[in-house]
Amino acid sequence: MTLPEKLDRGEAIRYLGGAGIELTDEMNALIDDCERELLSVIAPKYRCITVALPCEEIMRGEDIRRHLEGCDRAVMLCATLGAQADRLIRIAQVSDMARAVVLDSLASVAIEQVCRMIDEMIAAENPGEYLTFRFSPGYGDYPIELQKTFLTMLDAPRRIGLSMNESCLLIPAKSVTAVAGLSKEPIPKRKRGCAVCSLKNTCRYRRNGEHCGF
Ligand code: SF4
Repeated sequence: MTLPEKLDRGEAIRYLGGAGIELTDEMNALIDDCERELLSVIAPKYRCITVALPCEEIMRGEDIRRHLEGCDRAVMLCATLGAQADRLIRIAQVSDMARAVVLDSLASVAIEQVCRMIDEMIAAENPGEYLTFRFSPGYGDYPIELQKTFLTMLDAPRRIGLSMNESCLLIPAKSVTAVAGLSKEPIPKRKRGCAVCSLKNTCRYRRNGEHCGF
């Protein structure tokens, strides 16, 4: 698949925790350099399959049922930047932590941009249909263990070299698995975030000041 030509700098700065800050020339130069280096090594790959709903293999918990309500099919997808992005970040972590943090943020932006390109391809392949946003294992009450089901159904290890470890973390790390619902009828805009999450009162992420991404 084609690479994004530029990475979204505003988004990268947001990941770095600095939305609204004025960047110094030095910081701009570091981001430019990391962007160049990252874009020269990443090799995005993806897989998509369309499944008819209900698809019991991927239905676990209340949040995904709500998310896919009204959809008659769903697109399961996985995408990765490839192993070189992880390698670049790991090398920088040993010698230059500031560079590692910038590379990590830019790689997060890059995989999101790759996923948006996939969204556009799915929309183009299904003209006149309505697509929900992507919902990933680990969002809300959707078990992270479902990574295994996604990877197996998508034949991801063999087709794009994407696997997981015992903690269900994807390898390479800068990768995504997700499902988006498809419907021939307009679907109400899905709400996202803690307010509509089944786990809002018991969430371990929130207890630690973090967020699952939903
Ligand atoms: S961070 Fe928010 S959306 Fe995610 S699991 Fe926790 S309560 Fe739900």
